[in-house]
Amino acid sequence: MLHYSCDLCKRPIDPHADVRHVVKIEVFEAVEDEGDALCCNPETGREEADHLEEMQGLLESIDDRDLEREGMFGEGTHAFRYDLCDACRSRFLKNPLGVKPGKKLDFSQN
Ligand SMILES: [Zn+2]
Repeated sequence: MLHYSCDLCKRPIDPHADVRHVVKIEVFEAVEDEGDALCCNPETGREEADHLEEMQGLLESIDDRDLEREGMFGEGTHAFRYDLCDACRSRFLKNPLGVKPGKKLDFSQN
C-alpha cells in the first residue's frame, strides 16, 4: 500500500481519513506561436491521460512514475508534482507562489 505525506507540512495523509490533493507545476519556456498554443492546449486530452497514469501509478512506486513523467518533457521543461493535505491545499490556493505579503516594501526603507 502506498503511503502519502503532505509535501508542505510533512503530515502523513491517510487515504481513508484525509483528502489528498495533487499539485502539478510545469515550468517551461513560453513559445510565442499562436498555432502551437492552440494545439498544445493543456486542457485537451491531457486530463484523460493523467487519469490513466494515475491508475498505473497505483501499481508503481512514486519514484518510477516521476522518472517517466520527466521523460515526457523536453530539456528545459521542469515538472513538479506535490501531494498536499486538505489544510495545505487551502493555504496553497491562497498563495500558490509563496509570495510573502509586505516583502515588496522592504527596499523602500533605505
Ligand atoms: Zn499539509
